[in-house]
Amino acid sequence: MLLASVDYYRPETLAEATETLAGSEDARALAGGQSLVSLLKLRATRLDLLVDISRLEELRSVTNNDDGTVTVGSCVTYDELEHHEKLRSTHPSIGQVAGATVDQQIRNRGTLGGNVCHNDPINNFPVLAVALDATMHAVSSSGERDIAASEFFTGLFTNALETGELLVGVTFPALEEGFSVGWNEIEIGEAASRAVAVVRTENGSISEARITLGCLPVPTPRPDTAAALAGVGGSEPEIAEAVATVADGIDFFPHDADASSDYRRAMAPVVAKRAVLDAIGDDDG
Ligand SMILES: Cc1cc2nc3c(=O)[nH]c(=O)nc-3n(C[C@H](O)[C@H](O)[C@H](O)COP(=O)(O)OP(=O)(O)OC[C@H]3O[C@@H](n4cnc5c(N)ncnc54)[C@H](O)[C@@H]3O)c2cc1C
Repeated sequence: MLLASVDYYRPETLAEATETLAGSEDARALAGGQSLVSLLKLRATRLDLLVDISRLEELRSVTNNDDGTVTVGSCVTYDELEHHEKLRSTHPSIGQVAGATVDQQIRNRGTLGGNVCHNDPINNFPVLAVALDATMHAVSSSGERDIAASEFFTGLFTNALETGELLVGVTFPALEEGFSVGWNEIEIGEAASRAVAVVRTENGSISEARITLGCLPVPTPRPDTAAALAGVGGSEPEIAEAVATVADGIDFFPHDADASSDYRRAMAPVVAKRAVLDAIGDDDG
């Protein structure tokens, strides 16, 4: 289906972009266009104006900060994240997740900011941002504010930005000493189940862990499962037992074309276990 008629504007500066967005309820930022243009073609959303922020220099850098954190501009593409030399050594999970995102065409255009702002449950970066305890930086014509990733995702396809606000970047903390990150997902058509594990091991046992489930309206940390993992040895059966109740109390999506809610519930402990094994360097589980 062809795109419905919509005005297009490419601002030269971030200030022009935020002023334009503040001036119209029916204007929307256009980043990589990989989700928004599809929605417009499907007539699932209607807009008067696309404000193309994809080439704004202020949004296109990756900055390794002195405190070990890294700030990624919202319009940095997945391909740029995958191939960023410094990021690969300081925050390898970001480039790995970017490199595993769909296909090369989408990786050339899709952006970190678009991925998190769209908050499609199939998107990779909302769950990674929450798992890594990232901070989201928002700017509007009236000021700036920071939002914790855990508060940024407010529901299916929604986020905490207000009309006229742009996400300008995301800061990921340095991983604390001894921690590593594991990722696992099950794809059936689209991703049906996904988990991220951030785990510290000492003398062959897990001393601390954080588990976050994705493929849900909002990325969901599982503190009870994390507590159950503390002190557990690194064997597959021990980890499987500790994560067995990771899906308890979660409302999974009703049956859709890709998977039933029962299937998603059954797979949550599987991806959680595999993510922990991936984090501790044993991905045979
Ligand atoms: C066939 C297909 C399969 C896909 N599968 C996956 C997948 O498995 N995993 C995955 O992670 N992704 C997947 N995607 C989604 C893809 O990653 C998109 O790139 C992403 O959802 C949107 O990023 P974008 O830069 O293209 O944003 P756009 O499409 O340009 O924008 C998306 C939304 O975010 C808003 N937005 C964008 N940037 C900002 C900003 N800086 N501030 C405020 N609002 C902003 C826009 O206004 C719009 O509402 C898939 C896409 C397609 C087409």
